Amino acid sequence: MRIDLHSHSSCSDGTDPPAVLVAKAAAAGVDVLGLTDHDTFAGWDEARGAAERAGIGLVVGAEVSCRLGGKSVHMLAYLPDPTDPELVATLRRVRDGRNARVPVILERLRANGIELTPEDVAAQSSAATSLGRPHVADALVARGYATDRRDAFDRWLSEGRSAYVTRYAPGPAEVIHRVLAAGGAPVLAHPRGRASRKILTDEVIGELAEAGLAGVEVDHHDHSPEVRKELRALAADLDLAALGSSDHHGAGKTDHDLGCYTTDESEFARLLDRARGAAERSGRTTPAPYLPKGI
Ligand code: AMP
Ligand code: ZN
Ligand code: FE
Ligand code: FE
Repeated sequence: MRIDLHSHSSCSDGTDPPAVLVAKAAAAGVDVLGLTDHDTFAGWDEARGAAERAGIGLVVGAEVSCRLGGKSVHMLAYLPDPTDPELVATLRRVRDGRNARVPVILERLRANGIELTPEDVAAQSSAATSLGRPHVADALVARGYATDRRDAFDRWLSEGRSAYVTRYAPGPAEVIHRVLAAGGAPVLAHPRGRASRKILTDEVIGELAEAGLAGVEVDHHDHSPEVRKELRALAADLDLAALGSSDHHGAGKTDHDLGCYTTDESEFARLLDRARGAAERSGRTTPAPYLPKGI
């Protein structure tokens, strides 16, 4: 059983529409796919139809942008009620902040002699419900200012570079609370990758576990073998599900092929257990995982 619980479609900053993403996952031998677009549930329905046609499992979710101690932290939210008013409002606030910062980024780029229009960015984000730096990066590539997304981030868009602009993001404890109240299972995405590595110490992850965190991503492209070992032990200590996922973005990110990292069946069962518990306690109507092959 190949279980890959973290992927992005063109509803956020992946490059394939949800149905294409699901079909590609099936072709890549993935048995269960998690759809976790940034800060939106917009791809769920299309992905579900495609999963039924392809006969593969689907777990719907989102990757919610958070910030702690000035560092960006990502929280995966699996199987929450997508109509929960508080959660919907939180995601809308995050998306509004994303969209509002794009003109400021373009302003900063202009100060660096780079002429990029809102239309250039829109051309790279046809299906997206909100804009991210990856769309600006793609526009920079399309205009010949950068060779690929990574190059554009390294030159201008990463934290600390000249066109970096911050945006609204809630704290991870607040998001855990919102996700649980919406009947979903919150999981820390790549806690020791990029910027969040410095802030998400064992102690902080312990506090988030107390707050109701259900799992932690262990096997991920941005984690070294040593980091994975540490996180696996921490997850066992804190009774958290230990996940492994590709964080696939289509053509938007290399080294993130569908199914390149996977989650053990026993850890997946643990995650579903936690989601079921949260759903019962919340009293909300939550989406069921679609598992045509059982687990
Ligand atoms: P944003 O949502 O606008 O804050 O941008 C975050 C997205 O940009 C996430 O999908 C990241 O994986 C991606 N990202 C962040 N840093 C880099 C980088 N150095 N190269 C490529 N993608 C990146
Ligand atoms: Zn992304
Ligand atoms: Fe992420
Ligand atoms: Fe992601």
